[in-house]
Amino acid sequence: MAYFEMAKTVVKSLINGPSTIRYPAEPAKEYPISRGHVTIDPARCISCGMCMRKCPADAICVKRDEKLWEIDLFKCHVCNCCVEVCPVHCLEMDTDYRPAFSKHDGVKVVKITYVKPEKKKPAEDKSEK
Ligand code: SF4
Ligand code: SF4
Repeated sequence: MAYFEMAKTVVKSLINGPSTIRYPAEPAKEYPISRGHVTIDPARCISCGMCMRKCPADAICVKRDEKLWEIDLFKCHVCNCCVEVCPVHCLEMDTDYRPAFSKHDGVKVVKITYVKPEKKKPAEDKSEK
């Protein structure tokens, strides 16, 4: 009976072709919800560190004093958690699968360029005049 089941699977696979693709020789299909890699808009990041605290893989490091945002691509398992918690929505999940990288370029460092807007001074008290 087991042989019959196996033969059925083999015949089905021969007719339908393989279910897998030869990635990266063949490009992977992308969907609007594909999780490729995390991207950041450094001009909007307020260095709050929420993404770092919530990342279950400990893949993000925010160095507030140095204004650096780092992601370890070897640790990130594209769970989307950081994207969901970022209060200013400066993180996005790009649908492009990231290209291959070596251990030398596995950590991506981004310089945070956000500048906090200056607080407006309270209007001068005209009643003193
Ligand atoms: S996608 Fe998930 S694993 Fe990757 S950096 Fe964000 S929170 Fe961490
Ligand atoms: S990327 Fe978002 S969550 Fe992470 S430090 Fe910047 S503002 Fe905060």
